[in-house]
Amino acid sequence: MHRSSVRSARMRPGPAPGRIWECCKKEAGRMVPVRTCVACRERAARTELLRVVVHEDRLVVDDRAVLPGRGAWVHPTVHCLDRAVTRGSLLRALRVSGKPDISPLENRLKKLMDN
Ligand SMILES: [Zn+2]
Repeated sequence: MHRSSVRSARMRPGPAPGRIWECCKKEAGRMVPVRTCVACRERAARTELLRVVVHEDRLVVDDRAVLPGRGAWVHPTVHCLDRAVTRGSLLRALRVSGKPDISPLENRLKKLMDN
């Protein structure tokens, strides 16, 4: 009698959910770092997202992504910026307690809407 050797399929652990911040994707032959938009939770290349940091109780748009501190990433679109601000997901991502001045972000939003 032939005994079939069935190997038990090992359970593969899925990708660790908390690690998406450090991931990269391949684009045009090179690896680009990706970040998750706090509004729509979609991942995009760093260069496609806007970085927002808290600086002296103000939300600052970090256009060049050079400011120190915890940053949150959001699509530079009316839809995502508006959602990030009004739903508070931005403040949550930045772990801000209290009510920082969000006018720099609102100004950015207004500019986008004018275009
Ligand atoms: Zn988004």
